Amino acid sequence: MDLGIRGKVALVTAASRGLGRAVALQLAREGARVAICSRSEEAISAAGDDIAERTGADVMAFAADVTSSADIATLVESVNRSLGGIDILVTNAGGPRSGLASEFSIDDYRAATELNLMSTISLCNAVVPLMRQNRWGRIVAITSVAARQPIGNLILSNTARAGVLGFTKTLSAQVAADGITVNSVCPGYTKTERIEELAAMYAASGKGTVAEFYLNIEKDVPMKRMGTPEEFANVVAFLASERASYVTGVALQIDGGWVKSLF
Ligand code: NAD
Repeated sequence: MDLGIRGKVALVTAASRGLGRAVALQLAREGARVAICSRSEEAISAAGDDIAERTGADVMAFAADVTSSADIATLVESVNRSLGGIDILVTNAGGPRSGLASEFSIDDYRAATELNLMSTISLCNAVVPLMRQNRWGRIVAITSVAARQPIGNLILSNTARAGVLGFTKTLSAQVAADGITVNSVCPGYTKTERIEELAAMYAASGKGTVAEFYLNIEKDVPMKRMGTPEEFANVVAFLASERASYVTGVALQIDGGWVKSLF
């Protein structure tokens, strides 16, 4: 299927590795002109060079921290000026720390909501006016299955990410008549560098082997395996495409069936 996004400008945040990087790569493969950001200039430039080399696409890399309103303003302005608008926005950030309610202060919740909720809102606020001018836009917010089915030791993530679903659903109705779709995606366990780091930390702590770390996760996934970043990126690219023109306000799990609820 031709996704119909050749030449469209796509901004993917937090994309030096993992899910964000896989999405940027897939959009570039589909012919989009891609801008990416993460906090480290060196890491994001390396990711941009690699994507450009593998796809032949134009890729612009920016150092920007999505928890900084000033960085977001500069980022969006730079992409708009350099590439002439923003058609596709994929919001992403790192994840907050794991732990129980008793372990966190109110400032920990503030930091988590800045990272995972307020960054999404800031990016949408900055980009929606540009999409409205073109009467076309695609916004895909990367959240987590934790937004759908809270995970015991991830109270910061559960709290902030549920807010993203509320925000994107509400925004979707307010921009739908302008040709803009807004959807959220909820990744389940996906084998990115972060998960590999967690597996290595688990083994180093003496709790078990790397293989046992993966088995503990996979036993709860109906497909009995973790997802790949490519599988995740394929779905995001579809939602970001011309072909998904009548899909908006959806929160879609990409999780091998991990979420147990009906809705
Ligand atoms: P990752 O740690 O491999 O990559 C995170 C990316 O975000 C990196 O490029 C990092 O540089 C960038 N980043 C972090 N904080 C940033 C900030 N403040 N500003 C700009 N860039 C920033 O993580 P991942 O596995 O690719 O996951 C991406 C997101 O999806 C995270 O929020 C994660 O919690 C969530 N998630 C991941 C999984 C999974 O299994 N991989 C499952 C559910 C949810």
